[in-house]
Amino acid sequence: MSKLSVQKADVKGKKVLLRCDFNVPYDDEGNISDTRRIDESLKTINYLISNGARVIMCSHFRRPDGVYSNEFSLKKVAKCLSEKLGKNVPISSDVVGESAQSLASSLSDGDVCLLENLRFEIGEQENDIEFAKKLSSLADLYVNDAFGTCHRVHASIVGVPKFLKSYCGFLIQKEIQAISGVIENPIRPFISILGGAKVSDKIGVIANLVDKVDAFVVGGGMTYTFMNALGYQVGDSICETSKLSLAKDILSLTKEKGVKLLLPVDSKLGKEYSPNTETKIVDSDKIPNGWQGLDIGPKTIELFSEELKKAGSVLWNGTMGVSEWDAFSNGTFSLARALAKSNAKVVVGGGDTAAAVFRSGVADKMYHISTGGGSSLQFLEGKELPGLSVLPDD
Ligand code: AMP
Repeated sequence: MSKLSVQKADVKGKKVLLRCDFNVPYDDEGNISDTRRIDESLKTINYLISNGARVIMCSHFRRPDGVYSNEFSLKKVAKCLSEKLGKNVPISSDVVGESAQSLASSLSDGDVCLLENLRFEIGEQENDIEFAKKLSSLADLYVNDAFGTCHRVHASIVGVPKFLKSYCGFLIQKEIQAISGVIENPIRPFISILGGAKVSDKIGVIANLVDKVDAFVVGGGMTYTFMNALGYQVGDSICETSKLSLAKDILSLTKEKGVKLLLPVDSKLGKEYSPNTETKIVDSDKIPNGWQGLDIGPKTIELFSEELKKAGSVLWNGTMGVSEWDAFSNGTFSLARALAKSNAKVVVGGGDTAAAVFRSGVADKMYHISTGGGSSLQFLEGKELPGLSVLPDD
């Protein structure tokens, strides 16, 4: 898949509406705690600036649901962008009103500005055509670089391209090339690591990858549905009882297709679902009632790491345990370190998994860490992303 690149646009002197994904996490003090999505947008912003465009950036931030409030303002993002770009990034006080219009028309070639949070207007999430038209009227061209939002049928993603000549930015190109490159042309053995809370979230990925991978390595909460389907007791571990027959079907399908599916042989249990709870490590067939599996155990770490050593390429989506909590992060961190030592081309998707890989300190050893959570998951499911479908092909 190749989309018409911003490099093919004549941007000099043009007002360019640049859709970014600045939906960044904040810490307890209300400061941006991870600027990766901003950093990853800089290449396209700088390209537009240096080619004389008048850049009107826009993004959503969380879910203000059409109500203006300081809490959801993008002012801190504008400040961060000013520092990173080394130039003032003014922000409008509305999205498509007088403030946005006068700011957009005041720009000179090479200037940038930011519109307030798109979701202050309810028309954004409702994909309202009138809102899309108003947003489009601010600019001459549209560039989408918000990979993390391309799975949303929202006005700034799928509505605006109806009114403006549209292109994709460098981040979208990088994401498409990295993820589809591994899926379509993997170095073998090709292994998919799947984890996270629920099996139901990953069924689509398994279905899409089962004919492509050589092995699945499965951890996280979804493990216990598989274990239960195999007849093991899983204590109080997260288990989707309505998905037991589906789990059995997946196990038979992978067997039929000759695709290896590795499950944990031991787990680190917690007495309660809490970061400081009492813990113990047991084999997979010995999980007692009153305890729940919250991470993979040391034997599993060894087993999975041995398997991953041989990998040519790896697609990883979903953590091996509750990696947000120190007591249950070792499984995820250990696999990240094992991958860092391997020669595999590793593509990581999913917000929690990406965050864990960063915290493990080996993020720089990964081939690609997607900035998209839901969008990268849909990509792995082989589904078309609405925001990409509307962009012209190259
Ligand atoms: P996902 O977004 O599907 O990648 O899932 C990540 C989430 O799964 C994280 O919030 C983890 O805390 C959660 N998770 C992983 N393993 C477990 C587990 N064994 N029990 C409960 N939650 C888990």
